[in-house]
Amino acid sequence: MSNKNILKNKRVGIIGAGPSGLAQIRAFEALKSQGFAMPEIVCFEKQDNWGGMWNYSWRTGVGKYGEPLHGSMYKYLWSNGPKECLEFADYSFDEHFKKPISSYPPRPVLFDYIQGRIKKSNAREYIRFNTTARWVSFDEETKKFTVILDDLKIDKTYSEEFDFLVVASGHFSTPNMPYFKGIENFPGTVMHAHDFRGADQFIDRNVLLIGSSYSAEDIGVQCYKHGAKSVTLSYRSNQIGIEWPEGMKEVPLVTRFEDDTAFFKDGTTEKFDAVIMCTGYQHKFPFLPDEMRLKTKNNLYPDHLYKGVFFNDLPQLIYLGMQDQYYTFNMFDTQAWVARDYMMGRLELPTPAERRLDIDQWLEKNEQAETGEEHVDFQTAYIKDLLSLSDYPHFNVDQVAVMFKEWLKDKEECILTYRDKTYQSVVTGTKAAVHHTEWMDELNDTKERYLYEVTDEEELVAERI
Ligand code: FAD
Ligand code: NAP
Ligand code: MG
Repeated sequence: MSNKNILKNKRVGIIGAGPSGLAQIRAFEALKSQGFAMPEIVCFEKQDNWGGMWNYSWRTGVGKYGEPLHGSMYKYLWSNGPKECLEFADYSFDEHFKKPISSYPPRPVLFDYIQGRIKKSNAREYIRFNTTARWVSFDEETKKFTVILDDLKIDKTYSEEFDFLVVASGHFSTPNMPYFKGIENFPGTVMHAHDFRGADQFIDRNVLLIGSSYSAEDIGVQCYKHGAKSVTLSYRSNQIGIEWPEGMKEVPLVTRFEDDTAFFKDGTTEKFDAVIMCTGYQHKFPFLPDEMRLKTKNNLYPDHLYKGVFFNDLPQLIYLGMQDQYYTFNMFDTQAWVARDYMMGRLELPTPAERRLDIDQWLEKNEQAETGEEHVDFQTAYIKDLLSLSDYPHFNVDQVAVMFKEWLKDKEECILTYRDKTYQSVVTGTKAAVHHTEWMDELNDTKERYLYEVTDEEELVAERI
């Protein structure tokens, strides 16, 4: 093929085999299947399986080999947005499940879907599991990256060289853990959302959650659903501001603790059994030197990334999925397709100054967006921009934006029932099924229960047979 010479001996390193890293592999595979010559691709994943966040771990703190534990998901976690808003344009839910399913599947079902697409190829062969990227350097003369790696299983350090490096290590794993005066003497459980593994331990407890974003909202509702005595959410800047069911409420920020009593900004006090910090995450790249590290807060357009992916000072360094996310899997895809085309010499980047200008325009637009709807519009425009740069299959992004706005309203209308709503796929036109059980009544999140409505009893019988 004509691109053979450009790619001769070229190597692409990918750090992380979560949805973003897998999207990058899939993007290459899509061209490979058309007969294009490929660079050599190696993906490093510190866990023993792919799926990133969706690969649930019961562990907290550290993994089997003592690495910081990546996963922040928990038992009973269900999609918090309609699946129709994240559907892969090249692998539909219909293709995977062979029947319509509901709009809000639980984690194991979405994990299954992610794997279905990547299992169609030999992608697993590119991935070195149980391997942590420890350090990266860049040689200005050879224009190559050296990545130092640890094979955790055999406890061996080695290094490899790459022409391109894709950082797909996620950014919802390292807790942001603020200090509140007196919390060191709080007698009950104090944890960050990252370590929350399920609401079971909070049954009959009075739980305080600090934060007012997705984690606070969902962990709060989880605790309520599974039987906490009371759930209080404490906000710093923006209240979630919806009508809460009896037993849940929102209060201003906690200012200090005295033993098990929390003092709030409005002068009220209350006793709690547990405090869960739903205070977000830090972008953390301990394997990157300062000059290559993306330094940003969680927002829709991190600075220094051209088209949200190319590190402007060194575009051979590519970041995927570093934005705050309305769109997820399909956004990672559109990013990965553009990144692939650059790495394969199919897309040329403008000069650093032109790129800077483009970044600045996006930053300015982001600055102007204030409401949830405006943020949806912003990320929609971003994805359309990416789509115009590659051959990722077309999907009706404007219609997805409409669905996101309806979702915002659904949540406001009732936080306990929004997951019972159904949406229509923009990829296949399929209308989601109404689920067999209302979300509030469903305490079982297994794939078998979800897809076949089996009860635990029936599952047990099936197992015995
Ligand atoms: P991740 O999924 O975080 O994957 C990163 C991978 O990189 C991990 O496998 C990790 O082990 C690996 N890695 C990290 N550092 C290294 C290293 N040094 N060396 C080797 N490997 C490394 N999105 C939705 O669309 N719907 C939801 O309902 C939803 N719920 C969520 C719930 C929670 C609690 C959280 C935290 C996030 C949720 N998300 C949800 C967003 C989620 O982050 C994305 O769906 C998606 O997982 C991001 O993919 P990623 O590949 O960018 O990062
Ligand atoms: P986030 O969206 O970044 O929100 C962080 C929250 O912490 C904000 O409310 C912020 O308040 C607050 N905060 C930060 N520092 C604070 C401080 N010092 N004191 C008080 N409050 C502070 O993080 P997140 O809510 O953890 O969400 C992360 C990701 O997980 C999202 O992508 C989300 O979709 C996903 N998620 C999904 C589910 C699900 O149901 N599927 C569940 C949980 C999480 P300010 O507004 O004041 O900054
Ligand atoms: Mg803004």
